Amino acid sequence: MAGRLQDKVALITGAGQGIGEAIARAFVAEGARVVVAERNAETGQRIANEIGALFVGCDVTVQADIEAAVTAADQRFGRIDVLVNNAGANVFHRPLEMPRSEWARCMALDLEAAWAMSEAVLPGMRKRGAGSIINIASTHGFKIIPHTFPYPVAKHGLIGLTRSLGIEFAAEGIRVNAIAPGYIETEIARAYWAGFPDPEAERKRAMAIHPPGRIGRPEEVAMTAVFLASDEAPFINAETIVIDGGRSALYHD
Ligand code: NDP
Repeated sequence: MAGRLQDKVALITGAGQGIGEAIARAFVAEGARVVVAERNAETGQRIANEIGALFVGCDVTVQADIEAAVTAADQRFGRIDVLVNNAGANVFHRPLEMPRSEWARCMALDLEAAWAMSEAVLPGMRKRGAGSIINIASTHGFKIIPHTFPYPVAKHGLIGLTRSLGIEFAAEGIRVNAIAPGYIETEIARAYWAGFPDPEAERKRAMAIHPPGRIGRPEEVAMTAVFLASDEAPFINAETIVIDGGRSALYHD
């Protein structure tokens, strides 16, 4: 039986672990041909080998790497149908205690890289009159947790980028959407808990503040990415789908 992404070519950034890895696995399972564009050669190559994807070493904050990744994908598969801008990292500070270089690092990775990747793949998508771009934003894209500056500034911007590009290219058959995961159990989350005196207590607290009594799983984000990348979402554009178990709809406990 044909998969939901049969023969689509998808380039996924930061797919060496976490949410990106789960998306790469789910895409391959649905019949896509996947390019793992990852800065970390060890994780990226391992995942690509495991799932039969093409690994391309790519730091998404380096323009030459972006161009090389898109060229490698084009050479191997002839096109890119789906771009998933997933690479990102928490950059959390109290605003007035933040070195200015941290602002630049956060904006380069969590916002500008998504535009730079889109800029590189959009000409091909326009030529074919089809394409889907999926930006992995965050609930930080519309909610604020104190002392996480400037990550939410970048993620608000990423949702703005999604809406803006979604409108710009809609008439050319290209859809641009975002996914806003809430708390998802990945290395980012585990590293965050590890920073507390009692990591297990912080993990339990994270579970308790979510209406379903747990946080999310990377595979649950991947399911939505499959949907948005597929032909099942032809009229969903410039939209952000929240995956947080209802947490952001809760006023307070
Ligand atoms: P992880 O840190 O587990 O994975 C991120 C991956 O991206 C790593 O493999 C990392 O490689 C790679 N990466 C980092 N910087 C670059 C770069 N410059 N170029 C290419 N690859 C890079 O993160 P998650 O899976 O948790 O997060 C993925 C996305 O989801 C991010 O955009 C994040 O902001 C977002 N998100 C995550 C949530 C969560 O709770 N986990 C919640 C909401 C949003 P390396 O090993 O070299 O660091």
